[in-house]
Amino acid sequence: MKGPSSEQLAFDSQHIWHPYSSMINPPAMFPVESAAGVRLRLSDGRELIDGMASWWSAVHGYNHPRLNAAAKAQIDDVSHVMFGGLTHTPAIELARMLVDMTPAPLERVFIADSGSVSVEVALKMAIQYWHAKGKPGKHRMLSIRNGYHGDTFGAMSVCDPVNGMHELFSGVLAQQLFAPRPETSFDSTFNPEDIAELEQMLAQHQDQLAALILEPVVQGAGGMRFYSPEWLRQARELCDRYEVLLIADEIATGFGRSGELFACNHAGISPDILCLGKALTGGYMTLAATLATADIAQTISSGGAGCFMHGPTFMGNPLACAVALESLKLLQEMDWQTEVQRVESGLKKGLEPARELASVEDVRVLGAIGVIERKEPVNLAEVQPMFVERGVWVRPFGKLIYVMPAYIMTAEDLATLTHAMVDVVRALD
Ligand SMILES: *Cc1c(COP(=O)(O)O)cnc(C)c1O
Repeated sequence: MKGPSSEQLAFDSQHIWHPYSSMINPPAMFPVESAAGVRLRLSDGRELIDGMASWWSAVHGYNHPRLNAAAKAQIDDVSHVMFGGLTHTPAIELARMLVDMTPAPLERVFIADSGSVSVEVALKMAIQYWHAKGKPGKHRMLSIRNGYHGDTFGAMSVCDPVNGMHELFSGVLAQQLFAPRPETSFDSTFNPEDIAELEQMLAQHQDQLAALILEPVVQGAGGMRFYSPEWLRQARELCDRYEVLLIADEIATGFGRSGELFACNHAGISPDILCLGKALTGGYMTLAATLATADIAQTISSGGAGCFMHGPTFMGNPLACAVALESLKLLQEMDWQTEVQRVESGLKKGLEPARELASVEDVRVLGAIGVIERKEPVNLAEVQPMFVERGVWVRPFGKLIYVMPAYIMTAEDLATLTHAMVDVVRALD
C-alpha cells in the first residue's frame, strides 16, 4: 500500500470524520503504510512501536501469517452470506470455541458486528428475558459510575452520565440508574462499605431492574481503573439475591488482557450475559459476540415474541468468524498467561520512574495494561507528535497516558515504549 498523497490527506481532513474529531479544526493525521508485529510503518518511512494494539484488539501483532492465511482461505470460499436461514463452519466453530473458553453456564452465542452492538444485544436480551417471565416492569439498567460501554444509544445510556462522553445526549437517552464506582483498588483489602450503596439501589429498585451492567475488574475508557475482584464477587451475589441479571462487558478485558482469560475469572464468577469484542479477531476486523446462559435463551424463546428480536445484515460474517477462530486457536496454542505476565513486569518496571514526577497522580499496571494518570489532562494535539518523535504510538485520553500492547511485544520494545511514556510525561512536568 502506498501512503496517501498530500492531496489525499487534504481530502481526508475536509471530508472524513475520524473518532471524536472536529471538521472545523481537524486533528493532524499520521498516514500508515503498513504494519507488522508491533510496528506501524508510516508513509514517510518512520516506524513506531505500537502501544495501543489498535485499541486493545491486535493482541498477536499486525500482519500475522496465520491470521492472513485464514482470511485469504476464507475469501476464496465465501466472504459473506446472510445468516438468516443459512449457516457455515466458521460461525459454528467460532461459537463452539467461545462456549468452551468462557465460564460454563454461558452457552448460547449471538454473533454481533461490533462491541457497541453486542452491548445493545445484551440489554435487549435482559429486557426480553423479564418480559417473557411476565415482569415487563423490569426494563431498566443499573450501571456503575466511570463505566464505558460504547457509542450507540442503548450503550450510551449505561456509560458514566458525566464522564462518559455522552452528557450532551442525556435528555434523549433511556434513564438508567447509576451506582457509585468501586473504590477498593485491585490489590487493596476490601471494605464492605464500598458496595453498600449498590445493595441499597438493588433492594430499592429491583422491581424495575432488568440487569446490572459493568466492566469486570477493569474500567476502561471511563478512567482505566482496576478495582477489587471481591467487589465483583459480592455484586454477583447481590444480583442473585435481588433477582437482577448480571451483564459483564468484557469487550476490553476478554482474551487475557488483564492476566486472566476473562476478568470475571479474577473473582471466580460468571455473568448471566457476557459481551466480547475488540481482541476477538486479533484486531483484523470488526466482530463481537454476546453469550448467555441456556436459561436466558430458553426463557426469551418461550416469550410472546417466540424469538430474540435482533438480526443485523452482517451478522456472523464468515470472513470475520474465520479470522476470529484462528486468533483464538493462536491464543490457546501460545502460553498467553506467561506472555501477559512478562508484559506486566516490563510495564511495571518501565513505568515506575513516572511515580516521582510532580504532575503524576498515579501509576498502575494490571496484566498487559499500563497507565500513567496525570493530575491534569494533556493537550492531545501537543503530545501526540511528542510520542511519534520518540518512535512510539501512544494515544492519551484526558489525564491518562496508557498502553495495552500486543502480548508478543519483546522486553526491548517494552523498555523503549515505557521509556518514551515517562520521557513525555517528564517533558510536560
Ligand atoms: C470499546 C468498548 C465498547 C464498544 O465497542 P466498539 O467495538 O467500539 O463498539 C464497549 N464496551 C467496552 C468495555 C469497550 O472497551
